[in-house]
Amino acid sequence: MKALQYRTIGGHPEVVDVPQPTAGPGQVLLRVTAAGVCHSDEFVMNVPEEEYTFGELPLTLGHEGAGIVAETGAGVTHVAVGDDVAVYGPWGCGRCLNCSAGKENYCTRAAAEGILPPGLGAPGAMAEYMLIDDARHLVPLHGLDPVKNVSLTDAGLTPYHAIKKSLPKLGAGSTAVVIGTGGLGHVAIQLLRVLSGAVVVALDVNEEKLDLARQVGAHHALLSDAGAVAGIRDLTDGLGAEAVFDFVGRPETVTTAGAAAAVEGDVSIVGIGGGLLPVGFGAIGYDVDVRAPYWGSRSELIEVFELARRGQVEVEVETYSLDDAPKAYERLAAGKVRGRAVIVP
Ligand code: NAD
Ligand code: ZN
Ligand code: ZN
Repeated sequence: MKALQYRTIGGHPEVVDVPQPTAGPGQVLLRVTAAGVCHSDEFVMNVPEEEYTFGELPLTLGHEGAGIVAETGAGVTHVAVGDDVAVYGPWGCGRCLNCSAGKENYCTRAAAEGILPPGLGAPGAMAEYMLIDDARHLVPLHGLDPVKNVSLTDAGLTPYHAIKKSLPKLGAGSTAVVIGTGGLGHVAIQLLRVLSGAVVVALDVNEEKLDLARQVGAHHALLSDAGAVAGIRDLTDGLGAEAVFDFVGRPETVTTAGAAAAVEGDVSIVGIGGGLLPVGFGAIGYDVDVRAPYWGSRSELIEVFELARRGQVEVEVETYSLDDAPKAYERLAAGKVRGRAVIVP
């Protein structure tokens, strides 16, 4: 079968032929219907050899996956051949306290047991077929189109998880800031509009992304530059924003995020861009909560799909064949993807 692989440190993803897997005991084989392209893949492919923690190369990419069940291994119940499903990506041990609560993204045993998510260590969704280690990592699509919705498994779930924690601070008249209105950010804007009473201010460096931000519901869209904090303060009578979500995470954006937060506000650094935010008296507003969330829980993914079924959140999608997947990564690296690039094998 064809697969898109990251094969050598510092290399570009390549389409190659690999053996088609079969489902062993407890496993499920999917015929992949859609796989999303995330900026984290770009991050993985830029990690130097000595810091690389995503398993052995080659790595079949794709941590946003959807498919049709093609084969079930011995002992698999709850899913059947022909089911239309999406993959819950942050695989954990399934038994620790956090996993027991559905929060496999915060599994306390994954590192010790060598468990890595698909596309981030285990073979991912950018292939004709994909092996799932356990049926609990599948969520039924129940009629949702896989191509339009596959990215909700990360570009929807990750902002949903981050935003949910801040909802108590986002009542009517509050302000939420979204920095970086790409794959995750353009979904975050919609989630904030549906779930909160906040005025949504979007920041990006690219005018086309700011247009997309307005189109999906941002009340204000500002250039992410040295004037951005003043712009946010102007919009909030000088008070700042009750919650700032940084989907870039670079040094300059975390600085903006910290400076734009109101007293008792929240700063969530979601982007993996090497930025660090100092916290301490004088460094940030009084009582600001700063966090760096990772992905989301299984139940939150079910909730995100529910919003999609009601038409309350919609991913802007550019589609590519598996053969053209390297082009999707080139466009992502150049900052040209509008919304999310999705590979349709
Ligand atoms: P993306 O490339 O689709 O979007 C990034 C957006 O940021 C683009 O619109 C780009 O124009 C904009 N941008 C770049 N520099 C900026 C700046 N200085 N100010 C404002 N905007 C700027 O990326 P994505 O797939 O949405 O991922 C976003 C980030 O989140 C990446 O760092 C990714 O690795 C990370 N991520 C983290 C998690 C997590 O669990 N924490 C999950 C998924 C992705
Ligand atoms: Zn991702
Ligand atoms: Zn666990």
